Amino acid sequence: MIDDADVLIIGSGIGGAAIFRSLQDTDARVVVLESGGQVSPNGAHLRNVVKHDEKHWRTLVAAMTQPPVRSANPLAESFAAGAFDGVRADQNPDESLPGFATCSALGGNSLVWSGIVLPPSSTADTGIAEERFTEAASWLNAHVVSDSPRQEWLAQTHELQPVPLAWSEDKGWIGANEIAGQGFQPAPQYCVRRIVHDQGRASAVEVHVEGDSKPRFISARHIVVAAGVVGTVRLLWASGFDRDLPGLGRGIAHHPVALAQVAMPEVDWSRLANQPALTRPAAARTFPAPAGGHTLIMFEPAWMMENRVDSRTTISIYAHRTLPRDAGRHISFVPETLGADGLPLPRFVMPLSAEEKDCERVAVEEARAWAACLGTTLPSGRARVLPRGADQHLACGASIGDENDPLSVAEPSGRIRSLENVWVAGAAALPNAVSTHPAQTIVALAAETGRHLKALLLKE
Ligand SMILES: Cc1cc2nc3c(=O)[nH]c(=O)nc-3n(C[C@H](O)[C@H](O)[C@H](O)COP(=O)(O)OP(=O)(O)OC[C@H]3O[C@@H](n4cnc5c(N)ncnc54)[C@H](O)[C@@H]3O)c2cc1C
Repeated sequence: MIDDADVLIIGSGIGGAAIFRSLQDTDARVVVLESGGQVSPNGAHLRNVVKHDEKHWRTLVAAMTQPPVRSANPLAESFAAGAFDGVRADQNPDESLPGFATCSALGGNSLVWSGIVLPPSSTADTGIAEERFTEAASWLNAHVVSDSPRQEWLAQTHELQPVPLAWSEDKGWIGANEIAGQGFQPAPQYCVRRIVHDQGRASAVEVHVEGDSKPRFISARHIVVAAGVVGTVRLLWASGFDRDLPGLGRGIAHHPVALAQVAMPEVDWSRLANQPALTRPAAARTFPAPAGGHTLIMFEPAWMMENRVDSRTTISIYAHRTLPRDAGRHISFVPETLGADGLPLPRFVMPLSAEEKDCERVAVEEARAWAACLGTTLPSGRARVLPRGADQHLACGASIGDENDPLSVAEPSGRIRSLENVWVAGAAALPNAVSTHPAQTIVALAAETGRHLKALLLKE
């Protein structure tokens, strides 16, 4: 039975795991609560889903690559099964973006993330110290997993650099377990419904534990909310913090992304004869701000390509553009309506701005240009914009920022303004859109917040 903690971390995804890691060498009793289920061993459910569940992955790929059609939301089955609690099946799919759906799923994004670790094109723009990025790369065990013939081909012919992956040779994709390190044992099926607070200080959380009829209360000296973009906003809103934090849920950022697919030109692959089918991304190029973004080149494994037209290797080109936070894109709530998890049902307001349309246009041009130089465009592979949120890189909503930033809710240390002992971490806490895949920046930011929290714990 858990009834108290020095530090209570809500959410065992990438952000929560990184906070846990940064408190490893303190005497503090750190407890992690996770609303998702458990697969033995602890935390193993937070491993890349491709590794163990192709069916789930197919659903996601469908969601990411089909246009959002009102009558045929590809996620409907998952909604019906309750897997994406918090996003309603009857909501306009234009608003219920795939990225929001996976973000709201139990187990969160870390359940399915692909392990691509790309530092932002300029770490200085993030305001996070360079050493934290180095630390983050080591916690993620980021390294180039060699696929030399293809990578050599891309490097020689197109000057593309191999992408580091969060990868361990024995376990495969890195999950929250590996990021967090020793002793990480999230309590599964503990859904936090409210932070109990009075006069600017939190004292406990109200938790619904699967199988219990009554709520439990767990007291804590410090609380870190690392519940993903949607989960973090929902919980802070359910706790009444929206009154003091006008930026809560506002300024959602994501990457407009275009996809093109080509058949690879015939090259001498005899050197590859004994290699297993490649299942990993091979290369990327990043672009600095302000017109930031990154293009990812991936060789597709056979099982991901159901409608193959020939036996040549397929290359997918994902062109991402960086769309900064915008106050107009926000998460609000349907008054008085609770989801099955007892938290308010989110509503996603995502007007398509001129800036976003421009990003989409540039992304398509980018994907088309790469397709022209990498191979022969497949009949179904012409460059096109993917549904919004298909990038799965949603960010912000409970941003860290300075006091002049109206969209931020937390101080640069990660501590929520107006509450002396509540902190934010994870994708929701990012100060703005990141130009690349966000995980390394999320871990670097959580490491920074963890350092501030640790300093405070040592003083107390
Ligand atoms: C298919 C896919 C592929 C991706 N690939 C990459 C990639 O290759 N590289 C990259 O950098 N990024 C990738 N991402 C994005 C990345 O996974 C996310 O940005 C990251 O996981 C966000 O971390 P987080 O800790 O903020 O949230 P999450 O990882 O979503 O974790 C939040 C956790 O909080 C829990 N939770 C929520 N509410 C509550 C509550 N009330 N009580 C208790 N627990 C709660 C959730 O169950 C969840 O486990 C991918 C995402 C997806 C979906």
